[in-house]
Amino acid sequence: MTTAEKKVTRLEVVEPKHLDFGKKWDYAPSPESTDFVKIAPRHELFIGGKFTKPKSGSYFKTINPATEETLTEIADANDADVDAAVKAARQAYEKYWSKLPGSERAKYIFRIARQLQEKAREFAIVETLNGGKPIKEARDIDIPLAVAHFFYYAGWADKLDFAFPGRKTRPLGVAGQIIPWNFPLLMAAWKIAPALACGNTVVLKPAETTPLTALLLAQVIQEADLPPGVVNIITGFGKTGAALVKHPDINKVAFTGSTEVGKMIQRSIAGSKKRLTLELGGKAANIIFNDAPIDQAIEGIINGIYFNQGHVCCAGSRLFVQEGVADIVIRKLQDRIQTLRVGNPLDKNTDIGAINSKQQLQKIQELVQTGVDEGCKMHQTACELPKKGFWFAPTFFTGVAQSNRIAQEEIFGPVLSVLTFRTPEEAVEKANNTAYGLSAGVWTDKGSKIFKISSQLKAGVIWGNTYNKFDPASPFGGYKESGFGREGGLQGLMPYVELV
Ligand code: ADP
Repeated sequence: MTTAEKKVTRLEVVEPKHLDFGKKWDYAPSPESTDFVKIAPRHELFIGGKFTKPKSGSYFKTINPATEETLTEIADANDADVDAAVKAARQAYEKYWSKLPGSERAKYIFRIARQLQEKAREFAIVETLNGGKPIKEARDIDIPLAVAHFFYYAGWADKLDFAFPGRKTRPLGVAGQIIPWNFPLLMAAWKIAPALACGNTVVLKPAETTPLTALLLAQVIQEADLPPGVVNIITGFGKTGAALVKHPDINKVAFTGSTEVGKMIQRSIAGSKKRLTLELGGKAANIIFNDAPIDQAIEGIINGIYFNQGHVCCAGSRLFVQEGVADIVIRKLQDRIQTLRVGNPLDKNTDIGAINSKQQLQKIQELVQTGVDEGCKMHQTACELPKKGFWFAPTFFTGVAQSNRIAQEEIFGPVLSVLTFRTPEEAVEKANNTAYGLSAGVWTDKGSKIFKISSQLKAGVIWGNTYNKFDPASPFGGYKESGFGREGGLQGLMPYVELV
């Protein structure tokens, strides 16, 4: 067979034969109106409380990945811009923020939370337009959780003495924060809220493909009247991030993104006194035992991997099924993925939106191709994909071996690898056989089994009979190549304070 013949095509889709999905009913279109959202043609950097033109003089385009249309131009910060942002943050730290009592800092953070809540609809639409995620997720998950994070950490600002009884806390200074494109506003909230609550100032860099909600947040911060320079938001590519990490006047780096860049950052600050937290990739295992509530588990698996197009570090991308229920789980999965609606992210009925970028789509396609080449059996929905934009149909593989690339590497797309096991010991061993350790899910009727298995899994977050549940009071973070440090909860304060 030639390489061209071997390429994955929609014709190779393996469809379940026992149901006729051709007759699936359609919902009437229900798109969210974008009329009241006005996106300015150009966006500047937010430094020292003002929107300022970049010293670099250059801009790049940001697009809607569902249509490939340009939304606006974004400033591309160079080293001099990064330096100006860090200087503004340092000044704000020395002059105002480190001197304010926690109760005053809390008022500002509460104000941000309230204004964000008021503008939730606008934020949800912009998140969907710029990132490609379904509006129902931006509206029901991303934005409310970001708001909740600001409220939660506002509450801690004047209670740090109670967080660490018998110890005093001291802020670290200026935090350089770099975030990815999968949850743009939520990741900004995860980083900014605890840093401010603890008395630090920040320079945040959103991902190059999704800068818009961070820049909207900058407007909210301006309206909340935060002292100038307490939060600075600079846009750009990896080069801008690298300049921020290397800047000699930052005290802390917080990074969420790929393991590859995380390792580069770790190397680049080695030997400096900068504190570091890394939230990197994952290859989470969902483990279904014979005694699991199967239908509930199927919904959890679907939510865990197809939710947000699989653009989730904690996506449940490996499924381990005990042999006694493997056939029924696979059949139910085949049925259920056929009912997922892929398409216009602004439509309220859409389950799966657009892949965030062309580059990410190519990465998913390449890895899926390796699954086919290595002899795994591909199951994919027969849904029609829009002609423009970046799309990938929900997919899962059976006949997967531990050594297959799709079982080892992070795909960051709506692609699941299904493997089987016989005993709990085998499940644990297989689940832990990965370089990552961010999250996992355990599905069984027995609570004691959940506790026992959870204690043996090397993952930072483990869900029992559920998946992808988040709460600002609950810490999140990984082991091994998934990084270190925790975000959320009381533990999320630790990376931003020195205990004295
Ligand atoms: P992903 O694979 O999720 O896109 P990346 O790690 O490439 O993740 O990107 C996450 C964030 O890190 C983005 O904001 C990106 O611009 C930034 N980034 C990329 N390269 C570097 C680097 N060398 N130093 C600092 N930040 C970087």
